[in-house]
Amino acid sequence: MAVKHGNLSIHSENIFPIIKKWMYSDQDIFVRELISNACDAITKLKKLSVAGEYELPEGYKPKIEVVLDDKEKTMKIIDNGIGMTAEEVEEYITQIAFSGATEFLEKYKDKADEDQIIGHFGLGFYSAFMVADEVHIDSLSYKEGSKAVHWTCDGSTQYELEDGDKDTVGTVITLYLNENCYEYSNLYRVNDVLEKYCSFMPVEIYSSQVNAEPQYETIDESELKDTDTVIEHIHEDAKTEEKEKEDGTKETVEVSPEKNQVKILKRPVPVNDTHPLWAKHPNECTEEEYRDFYRKVFRDYKEPLFWIHLNMDYPFNLKGILYFPRINTEYESIEGTIKLYNNQVFIADNIKEVIPEYLLLLKGVIDCPDLPLNVSRSALQNDGFVTKISDYISKKVADKLSGMCKTDRENYEKYWDDISPFIKFGCIRDTKFAEKMMDYILYKNLDGKYLTLKDMVPDIDEKDDKKEEIKEEDKHIIYYVTDPVQQGQYINMFKEQGKDAVILRHNIDTSFITHVERTTDKVKFQRIDAEISEDMKGEGEDLTEISSTLQEVFRKALSNDNLQVTVANLKNEKTAAVITVSEEERRMQDMMKMYGMAGMNDAMFAPKPALVLNNNHPLIKYIAENKDKDGIDVVCKQVYDLALIANQPLSAEAMSEFIERSQDILLNSIK
Ligand code: ADP
Repeated sequence: MAVKHGNLSIHSENIFPIIKKWMYSDQDIFVRELISNACDAITKLKKLSVAGEYELPEGYKPKIEVVLDDKEKTMKIIDNGIGMTAEEVEEYITQIAFSGATEFLEKYKDKADEDQIIGHFGLGFYSAFMVADEVHIDSLSYKEGSKAVHWTCDGSTQYELEDGDKDTVGTVITLYLNENCYEYSNLYRVNDVLEKYCSFMPVEIYSSQVNAEPQYETIDESELKDTDTVIEHIHEDAKTEEKEKEDGTKETVEVSPEKNQVKILKRPVPVNDTHPLWAKHPNECTEEEYRDFYRKVFRDYKEPLFWIHLNMDYPFNLKGILYFPRINTEYESIEGTIKLYNNQVFIADNIKEVIPEYLLLLKGVIDCPDLPLNVSRSALQNDGFVTKISDYISKKVADKLSGMCKTDRENYEKYWDDISPFIKFGCIRDTKFAEKMMDYILYKNLDGKYLTLKDMVPDIDEKDDKKEEIKEEDKHIIYYVTDPVQQGQYINMFKEQGKDAVILRHNIDTSFITHVERTTDKVKFQRIDAEISEDMKGEGEDLTEISSTLQEVFRKALSNDNLQVTVANLKNEKTAAVITVSEEERRMQDMMKMYGMAGMNDAMFAPKPALVLNNNHPLIKYIAENKDKDGIDVVCKQVYDLALIANQPLSAEAMSEFIERSQDILLNSIK
C-alpha cells in the first residue's frame, strides 16, 4: 500500500490544544484509556476464539506490556488482542474516535465547572495527545490474510497510513512524549498511574523500562502455571557434605556437581490483580482475604469492623465490597472512599451520582459494568437506571445491618458506637433507608444497655385512629445525655428517682433526634437538663411568695434583670440549685454550630440558663429569710456558679471570679 495521506474531518482547526487544556486536571487518565482499549481488544479476540472463529496460537497468554524508554522519551502499549486492518484504523481511529472526541468537546467546551467529567469518563484513544506530540499505531489484524498497518499522526489534523511490519496479531501504540510530559517515560511514575487506574484490570499488565532490569518474582516449581513466562536460573554453590568413614570418624567432602545445582525460577510480575476479590463469590472469600484487600486498597492499617459483599447479576450487574471502618472518636471527621469501577477499570472515587451520599463515609469498591459512563455527570444524576443502582446499594446495606441486629445482636451492639453516626446520617438523608433501619437504631442507656425505640415506647407503631395531631403533653419523653461526665449531677438526680436516659454524644445526634421526632410523632427528646420534671419534685408548701422574693434577690446579686428564677421542692435534698437550659434554644445553637454559623452571633444564640432553687435546701431557706443581710449577694453568686458548673464549663472570666470568691469564703471561714 502506498502511503496514504489523510485529513481528519473536524470543525475546529486543531482540537488537541483544547484536549490538553481540558484534561489538564487529570492527565494520567490517558494511560487508563489506552490500556482499556488494549484490554477490550484482547477480550474480543478471546470471544472470537470461544465462538470458534479464530484459533489462538499455541501457548497464547493474553497480556499487555507497557514499555518505557527514557532516552527516546517514548511509551509503548503493546497488546496481543484482535488488531486492526487499515480499513479499521481508518474507520475506528480516524473517523469514529475522532468525531466522538470532537462531539464531546463541542458539548462541554462552555461548561467550565464540569471539567471533572472528562477526568472521570475519558475521551478514548485521542487522550494520548494530552501527553504526546506524535502517536504511532502498528497493528496486525487477526483476520486471515491481513497486512500489517502503520498509522502516524502528529497532533495536527493530518495523518498518514501505510503498510507496517508487525508480524504478530495485536497492536502497538507508540507515544512520542511532549517535552513537558517526559515523566511518562519513567517507570516509577507510570507504575503509580497503573496502580491507580489499572490495579484490577482483567488482563495481566507488565511494565518495564528499556535497558533496565525487569521486575521478577521468585517462585517455587509447584506454583508454576502453563501460561507463565518463566526465566530459569541455575545457581551453583560450592556445597559440602559430611561423610562417615569406615573407621567411624567423619570427614567433609565436596558433593557432586549435579547435586550442587539449585534451580531458581523467576516469573515477571504483573502490576495488576486480574481476579479482584469483589469478582469472586462471597462463599469463596476468606476473612483474611477481605482484610488483606482492605489494607492493600485503602492503605488503612486499622482493621475494618465488618463488610458487605454485594454480588448480583439481575436486574443489573453489580459487584462490590463495602467496609465499615472504625471511627469511634467524636472528633475525627469521617471520610470514606468508594472506588467505582467499570469492568475492573477504575473510574473515580466517590461519584455521588451513583453512590448514596451517606455511603461515601464507608470505604469500598463498587464495580458496575452496566453504568452509562460516557454521559455527563448531570445526566447520570437524572438517569433512572443510576438511581436504581443507588437504591439497590442502599437497600442491601440496610438488609445487612438489620439482619445483623436480628441474628448477631452481640456484635451489632459492639460495633454500634462506631457505625451509628453513619447509620444516623443515612436515615436523615434517605427516607427508604430510614424506614428500614428505624427499628434497628440502638440507644444506649445510663446502665450501658442498648435499647430500641420500641423497647422504650412499646406502642410506638400503633396508629391512632383519631386523625388529629398528638398533643405535646401526650408525647412520650425520651431523656438524653450528651456528656455523661459534665452532666453527672443531673444523672445522679435522675437515677435517684429511678428514671433513665439515653446517651447521645455524637454531633449528628441533634439532627438525628429532630428527624426521629418528625417521623414518629409519639416521641419527643429532651436533654436531662432541659427542665425539672414533676416527678423530681415533692409535696410542700406553696412557693409563690418565696419565688418572687428569691427572684428579686438573685437578680440583684447577679446584676441580671432577665434571669429566670423559680423555686421547687426538690426530692434531692443535697442540691441547692440547678440550672436548666431550654431544649429548643440549645438545639438551635447546636444546629448553628454544625452548619458553621456560630461565631459571630454566638452570644445572641447562646441559650439563657434558668435557675431552679431547691426550697428543701437549708442554704436557700437561709437566703430567703436573710435577704437583706450583708454578704448575702456573695452567697447568691456562689450558689449560682456552683449550679452553672454542674451544667457547663464556665467562661474564663466567670471562672476567675469564682476562684477568687471561693478563696475569700475560705478565708472568712477560718478567721
Ligand atoms: P472507545 O474505546 O470508547 O470505542 P476509543 O477512541 O478509545 O473509543 O477507540 C476507538 C476504537 O478504536 C475502539 O472502539 C476500537 O475499535 C479501536 N481500537 C482502539 N485501540 C485499539 C487496540 N489497541 N486494538 C484494537 N482496536 C483498538
